[in-house]
Amino acid sequence: MFKTIEDHVRQQVAPAALRAEFRQHEFDNSRRFCQLIFCVSIAVWLVFDLIVSYLGNQGFTWLSGLFLALMCSLTVVLGFTRKSHHFDVLNLLFISVITLGMRLVIEGIPTPLRPVWLVLGTSTVLYSVSVLPVRRWSFFCAMAITWAMLNPFYGTNIDLDDLEAAMLLSYAVFLSGLVIYSYLRIRQAKLHNFYMSKLLLEQAYVDVLTEIPNRRSFMAKAERQLHQAPPGQYLAMVDIDNFKKVNDRFGHDIGDEVLKRVAVHIKASMAAFEFARLGGEEFAIFFQGLDQTEAEYLVETLCKRVREDLGAHPVTISIGLARVDRADTLTMALVKADQALYEAKHTGKDRFVMWTSRLAAES
Ligand code: GH3
Ligand code: MG
Ligand code: MG
Repeated sequence: MFKTIEDHVRQQVAPAALRAEFRQHEFDNSRRFCQLIFCVSIAVWLVFDLIVSYLGNQGFTWLSGLFLALMCSLTVVLGFTRKSHHFDVLNLLFISVITLGMRLVIEGIPTPLRPVWLVLGTSTVLYSVSVLPVRRWSFFCAMAITWAMLNPFYGTNIDLDDLEAAMLLSYAVFLSGLVIYSYLRIRQAKLHNFYMSKLLLEQAYVDVLTEIPNRRSFMAKAERQLHQAPPGQYLAMVDIDNFKKVNDRFGHDIGDEVLKRVAVHIKASMAAFEFARLGGEEFAIFFQGLDQTEAEYLVETLCKRVREDLGAHPVTISIGLARVDRADTLTMALVKADQALYEAKHTGKDRFVMWTSRLAAES
């Protein structure tokens, strides 16, 4: 079954809105990691700067200080960045600064030593970019900036006919290919997992037949509302009348159609409240912020709406309504609503009954 769902997901192209949500989710989850990468990059650059400056007898210049200040500022800005598309730009700025800084430092060392340092710098930057949550355009721009700034053929004395040049070119192609491949594969795998878990979560909380929330969803949401305990909470249990007869007379498929139709009525008239199919032909609605007259009016209207839907196979519904008291748990409220529903069934169906303590005594 998992394989079937997975294949289904693979065949679907994730919609643009979902991709945007994924990018934001990715960035939210890895913001600290991005900050860490920026900080480590600054530390590595500093070591790099000190070593290379030492090799070139340059010392720590004001320019190095300026680059350090710029990179630190960008890292601070990252701390306040909340949108993933802002990070796409911020990361490009950071890469422009760090690669320019590297290039300037490397310019100060003897020419024969430069290619090694340039390639080392390029590999480090490219690998770091490949693990960051950036969009494709930003990733490829970062690659272009890195190769442009740290081009090992610029400012060095490598002859394009040399073996060394062939070796460098092969390495550049290999490194770029590897980095692009791993970036694209990792993103694809992450997007797939995100899409899959979203789909499965949705399915876990939605009733497959009627496509309205299921029992699990209702229990979780109603429980949360119950704990917030604002005044005016009511719980309604809805049950289709003589539904077994519909199944027996017209078949299960028609029974399913009737279930879907009742669900549509509930969804249309109770959109402001939590509702769900609890199972079988039973539904529940959790009202909040109403007085008793309003709650009664709403369930009365629902009964009327279903009664007056003279589709192919008309049905009626019975509803048990219970006020949720402060001391009630969700289970206690459900028991009360069920007792009221039982009364509605036994006093003629196609109606609602409000729970009273008398009903509890009788049951
Ligand atoms: P009452 O008016 O007292 O509620 O009688 P009823 O016939 O509606 O109640 P009962 O509980 O005896 O029957 C419920 C029926 O609902 C039994 C079951 O076959 C049917 N049912 C439960 N789930 C489904 C479903 O998903 N699809 C269909 N078509 N029928 C279902
Ligand atoms: Mg029933
Ligand atoms: Mg029934």
